Amino acid sequence: MLCVQLLHASSFRDTLMNVQGSNRKIAMKLSQDLITQLIAHARSAINPGLSPVSKYPVGAAVLTGDGSIVIGCNIETPSGRLACCAERVALFSALAKGKKKIIALALATPDGQTPCGTCRQVLLDMCGSIPILIAKNGSYETHELGDLLPNAYQRN
Ligand SMILES: [Zn+2]
Repeated sequence: MLCVQLLHASSFRDTLMNVQGSNRKIAMKLSQDLITQLIAHARSAINPGLSPVSKYPVGAAVLTGDGSIVIGCNIETPSGRLACCAERVALFSALAKGKKKIIALALATPDGQTPCGTCRQVLLDMCGSIPILIAKNGSYETHELGDLLPNAYQRN
């Protein structure tokens, strides 16, 4: 997976300071430039050669707490039953790189779909209710993960 140092110095620190606090307002406080870059990385992650069964290539990108962007794509085996979604590939790659904080996730699909139920639960478990940016028709939609998975399972 590609890991890109996104921003340096004060601009990213300013962004991080702005996104502290209520997760509900994080998406509104990410700069438009940061959102644009995150979505561009999600689009760049699309790899049709790795989704030969569904022919539904998906790209995802997570913004980490240190300003890196880590990408992932959906990966299918020839049987079609053993696969991993782009969102989890990006998340797990970031975690494997030692990135502990995930700020946001962008998703690029052929038709603007939102994450599947498994990804919603995994992302909520590992990241909390982060903003989910869905590339759609040359623009994007923003969702809060907690809104996409109301009454989520929580282990006590
Ligand atoms: Zn999924």
